[in-house]
Amino acid sequence: YESKRLKNSVHLFKDTMQERYLRNVNIEQALRSAIENHELYMVYQPQITADGTFYGVEALIRWNSPSLGNVPPDAFIPIAEASGQMPSLGRYIIETTFADIKQVQHSLGITFSTSINISARQLLEPDFATCFIEKMHQKDIKGIWLTLEITESLLIEDTPSILPLLNALKNNGVQLSMDDFGTGYSSLSMLRMLPIDELKIDKSFIDAALTNKDAQQMAQSIVTIGKNLEMDVVAEGIETKEQLEMLTRFGCDRFQGYYFARPMDKEALAHFVKDTLFPLT
Ligand code: C2E
Ligand code: MG
Ligand code: MG
Ligand code: MG
Repeated sequence: YESKRLKNSVHLFKDTMQERYLRNVNIEQALRSAIENHELYMVYQPQITADGTFYGVEALIRWNSPSLGNVPPDAFIPIAEASGQMPSLGRYIIETTFADIKQVQHSLGITFSTSINISARQLLEPDFATCFIEKMHQKDIKGIWLTLEITESLLIEDTPSILPLLNALKNNGVQLSMDDFGTGYSSLSMLRMLPIDELKIDKSFIDAALTNKDAQQMAQSIVTIGKNLEMDVVAEGIETKEQLEMLTRFGCDRFQGYYFARPMDKEALAHFVKDTLFPLT
């Protein structure tokens, strides 16, 4: 009986590995034609300030593949990186976001902040900063309206070589945010060394904060660290009024989450911003 069970579990394990491998190969191949086939698009999730007004958006990529269905970015970004597709995907993300945002801002006659996620490989491309700044100028977007969201693991890998890149972006006004803060292998000295303007508290702390004392104290401590280092602190993944009230009490500057709005396409965003900022017109 034991050996039969073992055999079954080994069989199951092999299937899962193989399935995952095949799925990754499928993703890698389907991704190669996704841009030209117009299967990718950007959605935008609003960020709300502590006084309840619209602040700006985070751009998030979506992929609707005819063969694979909706593939989440967590699943395909790492594969894009590993298979050398990140330079073209990264360019697509930046260009599409700039074009969409320009269009929405122009139609409403206002300017707002836009955050863009930058993957490890993308930032390490030798001409990343130069190209980003060039695209900003082409589209006539000022750096102060742009935030690059980077993750902790990326910064740990290569702090010395990343510093000049980050400084080049900062010299052009671009804001830097540390995404998913608290989950990676961050060191506090790194926070002091790098020109970071914003901390985003990882959703896992927000999820647990109402029921778990440790998570609550972690979230509160992250806000305190950020504030002491003169950074803005953003809470992401806010789903309930109770979470919002707690993080407001801790002193967060901005909020993002389904409680306010889900990520939406540029048309829906234009309506959202209009209804939020000009409710009477
Ligand atoms: P992230 O940058 O930390 O983005 C936040 C994620 O949380 C997004 O998932 C967003 O849709 C989701 N989210 C926001 N509010 C809530 C909420 O209240 N509840 C729940 N359950 N989820 C919420 P998404 O869009 O699936 O993206 C996942 C990750 O994939 C992102 O995490 C980011 O690391 C990466 N990603 C997404 N778009 C891009 C991109 O354009 N470029 C790069 N390099 N990475 C991206
Ligand atoms: Mg992000
Ligand atoms: Mg995050
Ligand atoms: Mg994340």
